[in-house]
Amino acid sequence: MKSIQCKVFGHDFKISRHVTYHVKEYACKNCKTELTTSGNGELVELTPKFREINDVLERIHHKRILRKNAPLNQELDKTQAKLRIA
Ligand SMILES: [Zn+2]
Repeated sequence: MKSIQCKVFGHDFKISRHVTYHVKEYACKNCKTELTTSGNGELVELTPKFREINDVLERIHHKRILRKNAPLNQELDKTQAKLRIA
């Protein structure tokens, strides 16, 4: 349920999870509404589908950090494109 404060002043989003350098999840500290960064960089509602995508992205991201020298964004783009089609 939306809190009255969110209705009057708008949501007060704080980053709740860093998925990759570019993708983050946000939660409103008043009403717990959740958003995430979508494949095209816009903020969208954090649905179970997006949460799933973010879990995959996060796993790849951590793998890439461990390997370090591989190009990160190329692999992420490929994964997001695949997930968007699915
Ligand atoms: Zn809110």
